[in-house]
Amino acid sequence: MSRIVFLNGSFLPIEEAKVPFMDRGFLFGDGVYEGIAILDGHLVDNDAHLERLERSLREVRIPNPYTRAEWTRLEEEIARRNGMTEGFIYFQVTRGVAERDFMFPENTAPTVAMFTQAKAIVNAPAAEKGIAVITVPDQRWSRRDIKSINLLAQVLAKQAAKEAGAQEAWMVQDGFVTEGGSSSGFIVTKEGRIVVRPLSNAILPGITRKSLLALSQDAGIELEERLFTVEEAYDAAEAFMTSASTFVLPIVSIDGRSIGDGKPGPITKKLREIYIRMASSPRMAAE
Ligand code: PMP
Repeated sequence: MSRIVFLNGSFLPIEEAKVPFMDRGFLFGDGVYEGIAILDGHLVDNDAHLERLERSLREVRIPNPYTRAEWTRLEEEIARRNGMTEGFIYFQVTRGVAERDFMFPENTAPTVAMFTQAKAIVNAPAAEKGIAVITVPDQRWSRRDIKSINLLAQVLAKQAAKEAGAQEAWMVQDGFVTEGGSSSGFIVTKEGRIVVRPLSNAILPGITRKSLLALSQDAGIELEERLFTVEEAYDAAEAFMTSASTFVLPIVSIDGRSIGDGKPGPITKKLREIYIRMASSPRMAAE
């Protein structure tokens, strides 16, 4: 079956999906995006992802081409057309096509592109073994709360991680961890409390982070929303990351130092289980 993508109102084979040369996404990185998991055929945390998309678009003043119900229909349709029941749906909106000039063009329709990536999220080997992380300086701009398609700093950070034999980079500013290249970062203290950086312009408001915090409260796990340093992370009992495409993944080393006993920790495992249970439940995922 040919891979079907969505571009500007049409579903079509990926080979036929062409974006014009003068698209502002291509020339300026002038756009925003979203990424959402699909599990057992349902969209995970769909409303929260669409709410964040609406906010990103508003913040960069790109008109939102679709209502929430229309976005949802497109997501469901692209998953159906690709026969995908577990994986990732990516969608982006750019300011559209216009002669290159910095200021917003007038009367230009946004470009909307959407594709799917089939992926085993629940049975990912990284969830069993845990992953290695390196730390790098956070070189991004000051509005990281907007899910911008400008990802050059993250491309460089994650490539540095790969070259060091790691699977994620934790970005660091003034000695404090901001977040992962494409994930939210957490540690667990020796007393069993989760520590996560509070929301601000310095990090993306992760949707998996938000859901997981609510679920961890229900499970009676204590939470500290505060900054943490790289040294505190080295010394933590456990560390983990969250993102829509991975859910909860244990981190077993940071900069080559083992975290805890160097194996996925019990609190991380429990949180992953709780999250998967929520994500597989049609009732909660539909909320
Ligand atoms: N931070 C950054 C920088 C990210 O790119 C992502 C994933 N897109 C996240 C955090 C996690 O966000 P979410 O749980 O919404 O996927």
